Amino acid sequence: MRVVHGKGEVFCLNACGQTKIIGTIQDIHEHDQTKMLGVIQDITERKELQSKLEEQANTDFLTGCDSRRHFLEKAEQELLRIRRYGGEMSMLMLDLDHFKNINDEHGHTVGDRVLKKLVQVCGELLREVDVIGRLGGEEFAILLPETRIEQALEVAGRLCQAVAAAELPMDGAAPLHFTASIGVAGLAADDLRIAAILNRADSALYKAKHAGRNRVCA
Ligand code: GH3
Ligand code: MG
Ligand code: MG
Repeated sequence: MRVVHGKGEVFCLNACGQTKIIGTIQDIHEHDQTKMLGVIQDITERKELQSKLEEQANTDFLTGCDSRRHFLEKAEQELLRIRRYGGEMSMLMLDLDHFKNINDEHGHTVGDRVLKKLVQVCGELLREVDVIGRLGGEEFAILLPETRIEQALEVAGRLCQAVAAAELPMDGAAPLHFTASIGVAGLAADDLRIAAILNRADSALYKAKHAGRNRVCA
């Protein structure tokens, strides 16, 4: 490893308003006297843009919950943590019922408002540590850390009721109601990837849809 000593002076602001510093960088490793001439550039704006883009990629633009990619990354990390240190988790898969009809009857903008309302209702009911991700369209996954399937079923039941009780205000008309179906899965001893638990939650969701919707299945 080289050890360097830098010394410089601010000499201009470029067109973008970025500070440039000119100076010498001296290699002081073992009294080596190699001298280097370099420019040190203030990259604050570039770094800020980078973290803004990262934030955008991690967040679902419509609802503000986690994007699919970010959710899956977090869930995979949580599973790794459990496999290393022990612990529990459950997964909920939630899908709005007959959402196509809502779009068809009231328009896409109202559909979008339903999606936002759904995430708001879930956020109000869930704990700070729970994670909501939009997997796509009107399908969401919810990771419940340190939660066994029995508790997860209770949470899902409360969520299902809260969604059905939610009211979306409509201009000059009665508020709009909507429902969701939820599939619940607990962690199995041989789950090494998050896809395994997600697949079981998805099968449970399929069951809930076929059993008549607006309900929870495990
Ligand atoms: P099911 O109860 O079986 O889930 O029926 P569904 O109508 O909810 O399911 P389907 O898959 O037939 O339709 C989903 C609809 O969701 C179709 C699509 O246009 C709509 N959708 C997907 N993403 C968005 C979005 O971002 N905004 C709005 N407004 N609609 C969306
Ligand atoms: Mg649906
Ligand atoms: Mg769907």
